Amino acid sequence: MNLHVPFDNSYGRLPDRFFTRIAPTPVTDPSLIALNDPLARDLGLDPKALRAPDGVAALAGNAVPEGADPLAQAYAGHQFGGFSPQLGDGRAILLGEVLDSNGIRRDIQLKGSGPTPYSRMGDGRAWVGPVLREYIVSEAMHALGIPTTRALAAVATGEPVVRERPFPGAVLTRVASSHIRVGTFQFFAVREDAEAIEKLTQYVIERHYPDATDALDLLNRVIARQARLVAQWMGVGFIHGVMNTDNTHVAGETIDYGPCAFMDAYHPGKVFSSIDQFGRYAYGKQPEIAVWNLAQFATAILPLIDADRDTAIEKATEAVHRFPDLYADAWAEIFRAKIGLATAEPEDIKLIERLLTSMATLGADFTNTFRALSGDDPAAAFAEREAFDAWAPDWHARLERDGQGWPAQKALMERTNPAVTPRNHRIEQAISAAVKGDYSPFFKLNEVLATPFALSEPAYADPPKADEEVRRTFCGT
Ligand code: AMP
Ligand code: MG
Ligand code: MG
Repeated sequence: MNLHVPFDNSYGRLPDRFFTRIAPTPVTDPSLIALNDPLARDLGLDPKALRAPDGVAALAGNAVPEGADPLAQAYAGHQFGGFSPQLGDGRAILLGEVLDSNGIRRDIQLKGSGPTPYSRMGDGRAWVGPVLREYIVSEAMHALGIPTTRALAAVATGEPVVRERPFPGAVLTRVASSHIRVGTFQFFAVREDAEAIEKLTQYVIERHYPDATDALDLLNRVIARQARLVAQWMGVGFIHGVMNTDNTHVAGETIDYGPCAFMDAYHPGKVFSSIDQFGRYAYGKQPEIAVWNLAQFATAILPLIDADRDTAIEKATEAVHRFPDLYADAWAEIFRAKIGLATAEPEDIKLIERLLTSMATLGADFTNTFRALSGDDPAAAFAEREAFDAWAPDWHARLERDGQGWPAQKALMERTNPAVTPRNHRIEQAISAAVKGDYSPFFKLNEVLATPFALSEPAYADPPKADEEVRRTFCGT
């Protein structure tokens, strides 16, 4: 094999009950759909070797590169509030870890690579739709500067995957700073496996929070990262869609792009996921759901916070209750920048909320309304110019007091408000073309989204036409 992967694996050295060693299941006829060259190089991998037959075989799970330690990770999780004590990688296999160019440890994981002991009723496979969706959206998130798992490659398997009907199968190679979730802790907590909780906590501190002094400090840091992450999602109109505890990353990366969506028309109650019947994971609910998920994390590590249970509960509660303030601060900082402000006044929150309320009333496009603020005609994105006119004088007065001057304010907005986001209708167009064997819309979309603050192709900023609008997104798996 000509492919050299500089593996340096650590998760496999944790106790056996953390995972099951299992190799990917080979596929019939693998072919490369896409490879992320810059990411490959950042991981110390040679893109040319990855494109060669040996490389594609490794990305498809048909060959296990030397030094890999393939395993499926065990985890549990609250799904829509109901607890599943046994989830785990049902269709993903961790090949191993490498150190990237910054010395950061990164997981290389195949997703859709065949059944594992955690597959339950699932087939362990993925079809090309969710694979390309995750590729597009995770890379767009990264380009937007939001912590996320990454996409290294997508490979077609040459095998059908049966969902509502047969679809072409695919495997995604996902890269992440780890795949440790709140649900990983819950897996051991529900089994009252104190030793495992302690080992996992130690591992997470070493890998993600080397400055953390103890479990309580770790909890505080996890809370701070989640607060920042969710505020960043809100700032780009992102709805995760499945904020289950097994999809809540302990290092604060966005993980698991299922029925997620970037909003077109703004409304805080917006829900896309077909399985989210009650709007649990609506746009505006995301901060409170994060609190709920973090409370589950705190509960799982409670015995490490203090030997006395009541004291531990008191300390953990206090930590979790700090989330709203941390979140509000991050949110204010992000949204101030979105309206061009580098300074802070308490009344800014009301000013921003007035804008959002009028956007919600008019169904204004989230991305384009904010982007228009730095343009020649800020009112253009409003369906009714009067709505902008009612808000504008207070905004202008505030910009005046901010004192940076328009050129600096305009530049701040232009690097904060993306011109283009991965809109659902574009993703759907890319997927339906791919199913027919044409990957060019997928490539084009990735290219446009790689520089989201510059509008290389104006059409990609357009909201969907009535017949293009995607109202529901599916887990699709
Ligand atoms: P998700 O809804 O994507 O967060 O997945 C929840 C759980 O279902 C995880 O344990 C997944 O590994 C598992 N799962 C999802 N799809 C499949 C599949 N096609 N085959 C096996 N397991 C799956
Ligand atoms: Mg998941
Ligand atoms: Mg998923």
